[in-house]
Amino acid sequence: MAQLSDDCFAHGGALTRLDVALADLAQRLVPVAGIQELPLAACAGRALAEPLRARVAVPPRDNSAVDGYAVYHDDLALDAETRLPVIGRAAAGHPFPDMQPRGTAVRVLTGAVMPMGSNGVHPDTVMMQEDCRLDGDHVVVRPGIKRGANRRLTGEDVALGEVVLPAGRILSAADLALAAASGHASLTVHRLLRVALLSTGDEVHEPGGTLPDGGIYDANRPLLAALLRAAGCAVSDLGIQPDRREYLARTFAAAADHDAVVTSGGVSTGDEDHVKAAIEAAGGKLHFWRLAIKPGRPVALGQIGNVPFFGLPGNPVAALLTFCFFARPVLQRLGGADPAPLRAFAVTSGFPYRKKADRREWVRVSLREDGRGGWRAEKYPVDGAGVITSLTRTDGLIELPEELLRLEPGDPVRFYPYAVLGL
Ligand code: AMP
Ligand code: MG
Repeated sequence: MAQLSDDCFAHGGALTRLDVALADLAQRLVPVAGIQELPLAACAGRALAEPLRARVAVPPRDNSAVDGYAVYHDDLALDAETRLPVIGRAAAGHPFPDMQPRGTAVRVLTGAVMPMGSNGVHPDTVMMQEDCRLDGDHVVVRPGIKRGANRRLTGEDVALGEVVLPAGRILSAADLALAAASGHASLTVHRLLRVALLSTGDEVHEPGGTLPDGGIYDANRPLLAALLRAAGCAVSDLGIQPDRREYLARTFAAAADHDAVVTSGGVSTGDEDHVKAAIEAAGGKLHFWRLAIKPGRPVALGQIGNVPFFGLPGNPVAALLTFCFFARPVLQRLGGADPAPLRAFAVTSGFPYRKKADRREWVRVSLREDGRGGWRAEKYPVDGAGVITSLTRTDGLIELPEELLRLEPGDPVRFYPYAVLGL
């Protein structure tokens, strides 16, 4: 298995654009999740470990796309009906056993392989049954059909030996259909990245219990556990850890049999932030990545031994955004995936907005129909980094690029539905 370099997550501390940070990390990262062979049915969501080549062409043989009659196009009159004897039948899985002579028709059903001719000349066209009339044991076909109509060609979907899926592909349901059609019963995929997840904070408590004065319930573990699973990770729940260096250090040392550790809280540089000290006490290193994004405070990245560490902010909205736009693609790379860039959709802004230069910003919005077939994004009225309803009562995020200073109503903006972010 590949090893990360000793100081894979080092960072100079300068304010860094998100795309620069991600490109920089992509250069340094190698997959740390091992590989395994799994039956197709278990492969959805896994990262393919090697390029997949087709073992057969798809379709494997020329075949009929409709129910009808296989004919030689050259037998058909150009501007009159043609009457041909029906000499046999082919259905899906039941090829016509003989050679089809010129001047004849064979009844074919959808998916039946095209009958064979001789001397390199084969029936090449299928007349749809709706365009034919039966007359005893003959079929009468209309003029005007194109050569090759209603015939699917060998390999028109996939050629034999073609790479159908690249290494690093996160396998979708359709990918599994393609792998199966091209002859694969199992695939070589990466193991799930095993991620240890914990929350930090003396004020943070498990929901269900009574809440002491000054306490809050842990919102981040359920949030991040679900996001991690959607990103293709296996999650170990290490609970809530108090703001005490010794406890945290012990937990981090115990988590070192995982592929990565993800925490929330305790990584701003306030007095009560003990994560850095605890990582160092556990023999690790921590670096604060100052990303030019809002919301999102410094995200801490480090290593405990060879195990990557992700320290996300404590506020749930900031934890979510830093996870989705930063930690997620990094974790996916560690898991062997080559994550596709997130796809945003063009909508128009329904509100004015001012922002600082050189910083990427996300605004929580609901979509309204604009009456012209498009969508208008309306900003959620409350936008604190701890306001969880701002996530549940909106449809997604608009992304305001670094260069932008002011947004006016009617301006085009990029919109990410929450589903795109794995929510
Ligand atoms: P911190 O990053 O630890 O300074 O926390 C920032 C804010 O997020 C504080 O108001 C914390 O109480 C809050 N917070 C931290 N962890 C959680 C959590 N697991 N669930 C909900 N809020 C949290
Ligand atoms: Mg805290």
